[in-house]
Amino acid sequence: MVLLLFGPPGSGKGTQSQKITRWLGIPAISTGDMLRAEIGSGSALGKAAASIMANGGLVGDDLVNRMLADRLLQPDCANGFLLDGYPRTVEQAEFLDNLISERRLEKPVILHLDVPLDALVGRLTSRRQCPKCKRIYNLLQQPPKSPGICDDDGAPLEIRKDDSEDVVKERIRTYDELTRPVLAYYQDRKYFQIRGDRSPGYIFEEITGILDPLVSKNGAGRGGASVKRANGSRRK
Ligand code: ADP
Repeated sequence: MVLLLFGPPGSGKGTQSQKITRWLGIPAISTGDMLRAEIGSGSALGKAAASIMANGGLVGDDLVNRMLADRLLQPDCANGFLLDGYPRTVEQAEFLDNLISERRLEKPVILHLDVPLDALVGRLTSRRQCPKCKRIYNLLQQPPKSPGICDDDGAPLEIRKDDSEDVVKERIRTYDELTRPVLAYYQDRKYFQIRGDRSPGYIFEEITGILDPLVSKNGAGRGGASVKRANGSRRK
């Protein structure tokens, strides 16, 4: 299954993509994480991306498209993948469409996590992430058990550089201007809008409810654990 996860910065894409990929057994590919890794490694791409990301703008389509096309060639993508944060412009969406037809990949399923824009700044400035396992916390709604420490591996949690209030506002503006039109581009596909202003568990229930029939229909493997339903029953 090829999944595209959309939503403004702070809509909970990262949290849901971790849950979905564990459930479906496909990799989650976040272009933001890939770009941060490039910055960390000091590569030419990282150097080109760093100041753009620090200011809340978008890295150039050519660079991101090439990076994504290479990543999708890796063997872990053979049975499908989830894209988090890509495509972010109509040009990227067109590039992805070409790639999908050239490589004869499955037609994508689009999930749109919709959150009112005025809720986002508070969510992002209270976000913390484990640099080791990438788990995301929120100091207001999902704090770690010990302050500043990841529950899973004890690593000290970090604040993303671009989660300061002024950069967050710019990222939201960029989303509105450049990424919202991508949603219109996908309207006539397998497109599902989900209200993202509810608890992560509830949202995941809704997502599994949407994807379950599609997964069963095309027979894609589901590698992860069973999902606990709201009524207490479990399904595999
Ligand atoms: P968020 O969705 O919370 O803004 P991401 O980790 O997805 O965070 O992205 C962080 C930054 O990385 C973006 O603000 C942008 O500068 C850059 N970036 C990520 N994905 C793309 C993309 N597909 N095209 C261009 N820039 C991107």
